[in-house]
Amino acid sequence: VFPPQNSDTHIFRSKLPDIPISTHLSLYAYCFEKLFSFFDRPCLISGSTGKKYSFAESHRISQKTAAGLSNLGIKKGDVIMILLHNCPEFVFSFLGASMIGAVTTTANPSYTPNEIFKQFTASHAKLIITQSQYVDKLRDSHENHPKLSKDFTVITIDDPPENCLPLTVLTEANESEVPDVTINPDDPVALPFSSGTTGLPKGVILTHKNLITNVAQQVDGENPNLYLKEEDVVLCILPLFHMFALDTVLLCSLRSGAAVLLMQQFEMGALLELIQKHKVSVAALVPPLVVALAKNPMVAAFDLSTIRVVISGAAPLGKEVEDAFRSRVPQATLGQGYGMTEAAAAITLCLGFAKQPFPTKLGSCGTVLRNAELKVIDPETGCSLGYNQPGEICIRGQQIMKAYLDDLETTLNTIDVEGWLHTGDIGYVDDDEEVFIVDRIKEIIKFKGFQVSPTELEALLLNHPSIADAAVVPQKDEVAGEVPVAFVVPSDGSELTEETVKEYIEKQVVFYKKLSKVYFVHAIPKSPSGKILRKDLKARLAAASLL
Ligand code: ATP
Ligand code: MG
Repeated sequence: VFPPQNSDTHIFRSKLPDIPISTHLSLYAYCFEKLFSFFDRPCLISGSTGKKYSFAESHRISQKTAAGLSNLGIKKGDVIMILLHNCPEFVFSFLGASMIGAVTTTANPSYTPNEIFKQFTASHAKLIITQSQYVDKLRDSHENHPKLSKDFTVITIDDPPENCLPLTVLTEANESEVPDVTINPDDPVALPFSSGTTGLPKGVILTHKNLITNVAQQVDGENPNLYLKEEDVVLCILPLFHMFALDTVLLCSLRSGAAVLLMQQFEMGALLELIQKHKVSVAALVPPLVVALAKNPMVAAFDLSTIRVVISGAAPLGKEVEDAFRSRVPQATLGQGYGMTEAAAAITLCLGFAKQPFPTKLGSCGTVLRNAELKVIDPETGCSLGYNQPGEICIRGQQIMKAYLDDLETTLNTIDVEGWLHTGDIGYVDDDEEVFIVDRIKEIIKFKGFQVSPTELEALLLNHPSIADAAVVPQKDEVAGEVPVAFVVPSDGSELTEETVKEYIEKQVVFYKKLSKVYFVHAIPKSPSGKILRKDLKARLAAASLL
């Protein structure tokens, strides 16, 4: 199927054999393919209300939602926007839309009116499902943008404000009226936006085939890479509006018959109580949450012994944090996944999560998923690199996005003619096929000709007992081009000075990695997916240099 390969290309593969994948199905049919074997088992659990929905109920409410959307005029190819935190209604809306061939764009309800407006117009959404408290944001954007004359429908999951419809127009529709729609593997089903860590968020077109492939790569086969059981309770605390949670948590659990515990937002006490009460067995987390669980003293008072798997993804996880977490939750297998929105989420996953697990190493992001190819290239020459040589990670397979939304140029710059998606991440594959992510190409600091890794300096800073959090970014410099500067959050009560921090780093690194400046701050800005918002820090530096 793949185009002929240059013989010099080294292709890395999973240790697990390829499997047949049902890409001819619609996403909905695929997720519920084994419905009858777990009909009465819990599918969704609302963390806030405790209400449980069985697989049969979830299936039926999603069908009703499909009929309701269709009654409101939503047709195959139309886009709806879900503007919600994690809740069962999110899931029913997404699945219902997918059934009739509609496409869902998911947005963060905490976005400003302007951010919501941009995504709404870019995606040409016709309908929004949200909560009454966010409706004013929609009004604001509507008033500030009179050109947005086209009418759109707003449905709220709680009491609808004026001009909005109640959710019952969907959930109480007649499920026997779902129109018969032919869905092709290459039809789009999801239109998530990338996190916007390196620039503006980009709309990513994902098809039924893309999502089915990525879910199958994780949980299908005799020895699935991510072994989920019907008895599992999978924690969904990461936002469903990002692909990590939508794909690896929700869709993988639906396919496997595991229950998903939906939590709206992070609060340590509530999280610990929910884990204990619902006997969470699998948790998908981002590094700041792993840190919180490893360090917060409250954790000791709760029973976390049911947790057997912890997946950390979306951003680098420090080795010390991994160690600290392991000593606290010793029975759990902690490992990483690495992915991006454009790859329908997961690219690599820890093989320690497999049904017959493989031994894995600290700091590794896992091994490339089955039914996919990974290569590492020299970012300058494009030449393929072998084991242990860091370069740009490229990934190929049926899970790769169709395109960026309305951006042919960026699409062609990202997916080459041979079908390789260039991730923009620097990493290497070791002798055991394990992938280590080192940095992002765009974030590497260039001091004269030398490359300075912000992640490496951040890891050193975090080792300091008086540093609670840290981020490193480049600052423009007349002589060197760029120099690394650090933003540091001191631990409570510590009396750090700029000089001590600089000396501490200087002792451990070659001259060009020395910090040229240290700024003390109260917090490091992070995205909901746990990524350091370096662009915000850079903007702060730029603003400061103008003063
Ligand atoms: P944008 O593309 O809009 O700038 P983004 O790349 O952060 O934002 P996402 O698609 O949410 O948007 O994130 C994908 C990126 O997250 C990857 O390219 C990689 O840099 C980072 N990432 C994901 N998992 C890991 C991991 N386990 N370790 C290190 N980095 C990771
Ligand atoms: Mg990206």
